[in-house]
Amino acid sequence: MKKHERTIGESHVDFYRGVKLLHDPVRNKGTAFTEEERDELGLRGLLPPKVCTQDEQVMRVLDNLQRKFSDLDRYVYLVALQDRNETLFYRVVTEHLQAMMPLIYTPTVGKATQLYGHIFRRPRGLFLTANDKGRMGEVLGNWPHRDVRIIVITDGERILGLGDLGANGMGISVGKLTLYTACAGIHPTQCLPITLDVGTNNRQLLKDPLYLGLSQRRVRGEEYDELFAEFVDAATTRFPKAIIQLEDFANLNAFRLLEKYKDRICLFDDDIQGTASVTLAGFYSAQRITKNSLKDQRFLFLGAGEAGIGIGQLVVSALTSEGLTDQEARQRCWFFDSKGLVVKQRDDLAEHKKLFALDHQPMTSFQDAIKSFKPTAIIGVSGAPGSFNKPVLELMAEINERPIIFALSNPTSKCECTAVEAYNYTKGRAIFASGSPFDPVDFGGRAFVPGQGNNAYIFPGVGLGAMACGASRITDEMFFAAAKSLASQVTDHDLELGRIFPSLSKIREVSAKIAVAVAELAYDHGLAREKRPENLLEHVKQMMFEPVYEE
Ligand code: NAD
Repeated sequence: MKKHERTIGESHVDFYRGVKLLHDPVRNKGTAFTEEERDELGLRGLLPPKVCTQDEQVMRVLDNLQRKFSDLDRYVYLVALQDRNETLFYRVVTEHLQAMMPLIYTPTVGKATQLYGHIFRRPRGLFLTANDKGRMGEVLGNWPHRDVRIIVITDGERILGLGDLGANGMGISVGKLTLYTACAGIHPTQCLPITLDVGTNNRQLLKDPLYLGLSQRRVRGEEYDELFAEFVDAATTRFPKAIIQLEDFANLNAFRLLEKYKDRICLFDDDIQGTASVTLAGFYSAQRITKNSLKDQRFLFLGAGEAGIGIGQLVVSALTSEGLTDQEARQRCWFFDSKGLVVKQRDDLAEHKKLFALDHQPMTSFQDAIKSFKPTAIIGVSGAPGSFNKPVLELMAEINERPIIFALSNPTSKCECTAVEAYNYTKGRAIFASGSPFDPVDFGGRAFVPGQGNNAYIFPGVGLGAMACGASRITDEMFFAAAKSLASQVTDHDLELGRIFPSLSKIREVSAKIAVAVAELAYDHGLAREKRPENLLEHVKQMMFEPVYEE
């Protein structure tokens, strides 16, 4: 094979040269094409004369980013770079993840997704729509890469805590897959972002002339289920090795779809299972500070949706594995939603909430629930900003020496409290984690580094592990194993800083170890389709894409 004919994944690529090569983001090296390549590939004269190193290109990107006026501008610039030169994009993102994560994911991706139709430059990902009924296989066939291993699909109905954003949800599928590559080295050509556009009930979007999705209200019921089933059939036929991640579906569909498909195909829901896993890891780390066990904790959730119930279910599994009965475990998890405490007397409870409904008097004040239950931990997954206010935080500090305060709602504008509020109102005693990132906080002469309960600690490693062993299913046990692996990688130094998750700078190492834990489990449970390699960690690391140019 000639140098310019490359095999990427399993897809053999035709002869690429000249301008066509410069416009191909997978193979383009921009100013880093060597003198020899410029002659051989018909690039002479099409590039400025200086041959740059990749380091110099990175410097130019960082310089450009610095000169932008807003994070949204930085996002637009980074997406354009991804469309031009993927290798360089991933080199920048991987090496500067701490700085790039808030740009390519929450909070900036929230704003970018809201404005998708306005900032749109080039399409990325695959749009399947309600109009594609009967021809989804054909549409999937238009995707240029054959060896797809991870599909992230959204129908855009519950984007972060921002609600129904319809087809704009593509920003989230793309963002999540960017994290798969940056955090776990899944090759970009093995990632497929999909938006299932079944319409939107967001009136503002429907009125917006620049909205790019179907201009209709959401398809519901049987018709919706048929569309999703057709997607599953088409995707599993065309890409039989792919893992499907459900992303930001509203809870009326998320729980149902997960239940229906998780034992049939290789599918999971990150909002339910990934969130649960990272949060459980946070609890395990917190108990190293509180010096007691998970059994000694009482968890009060604000919000009883996908995130809350998902976390509750995994906590129950963790507690039962420590010897509690299912009922004892559930009594340690109280839920409070928009209508008040989740109790049996209520007749408005959705199915997923009923498992946690308490035998208790109804309550409509969160503070009263705290006084009654005396939680050691409050977990904000409500999308209701400011609900962990001064009185709530002071009450938690009154009841607990080290109150656990997780304000997980995204983006930052939806967070239940800020890091500054959590530390100030508990006099620096809070064990704090948030969904979106916060800067370090100075309190009483001490610098606290808030932990980010970011699902990116979990799903890339789970996907990598499942890929490494050819898992036929993604199970709840895998998320339990991932949580334990993540918690075990938090150092004493992290905890001294107040950080209950590892530094993001170690994320690729973290993902590799999670992948091993997940693959081990698959091998032990007979769910692996690939032969077990002698050294699993080595095998996993070898699979990871490095963002350097091919010779
Ligand atoms: P969801 O729509 O499934 O559930 C939201 C829940 O919050 C519902 O039970 C609703 O009744 C409740 N709620 C709404 N307003 C409330 C109020 N004022 N007081 C009390 N409860 C209220 O959404 P979800 O998937 O569970 O996500 C919730 C939030 O968690 C979102 O902001 C999302 O971004 C965030 N989240 C964070 C992470 C993370 O940080 N790792 C992961 C997943 C979700």
